[in-house]
Amino acid sequence: MQNPLFKKLSILYVQMEEEYDHVAGKIGLSCHGCPDNCCNSYFQHHTHIEWAYLWKGMESHSDEKQRELLDKAGEYITKSQALLAQGLRPRIMCPLNDNGLCQLYEHRLMICRMHGVPNSFVRPDGKRISFPGCFRCQELGSDLEEVPVLERTRFYQELASLEIAFAGSKSKGLSKVNLTIAEMLVNGPPSVASQK
Ligand code: SF4
Ligand code: SF4
Repeated sequence: MQNPLFKKLSILYVQMEEEYDHVAGKIGLSCHGCPDNCCNSYFQHHTHIEWAYLWKGMESHSDEKQRELLDKAGEYITKSQALLAQGLRPRIMCPLNDNGLCQLYEHRLMICRMHGVPNSFVRPDGKRISFPGCFRCQELGSDLEEVPVLERTRFYQELASLEIAFAGSKSKGLSKVNLTIAEMLVNGPPSVASQK
């Protein structure tokens, strides 16, 4: 039986996408035809539940496909570590991107779903953090009187609640995840919690 928290996470992901589409629609932003591809952006991800859910998607692929993706993830890590050692921020295509298509689209992580439009959130210490959106979004926004902003705070709070529930009795003292998608793949599923 699947962990019921995965169902809640998938519902939260849909809500994020709906909000993203709403804001992107107001700005007129679409990734279609964009000369950039944000799947080569260097991001770390921070929750065990998203990591575990990503692996649920991996396990739906054949063993051969999983090996192929793990090989690409290993190459990504080698290249990115070499760049980081030189003080450079990697720009390497995500190992899950195959000719523009995400191989775990239904299981991709929060940041993959919300990057692009202007967004903002309030940290637990009360400080507001804001991002202006991608270059294309900023170009489109310069023609608007008022640029809409995606408010992420509620989504972060709900994801944090799911993370605590996922870790269960291990949630106290649980260390924060700081992993790229490639590392989440090569490391295998997270060992915490009530994964079913
Ligand atoms: S988020 Fe922006 S920069 Fe990234 S692919 Fe979409 S339109 Fe292009
Ligand atoms: S997981 Fe999918 S959507 Fe996210 S960066 Fe990788 S290929 Fe792109």
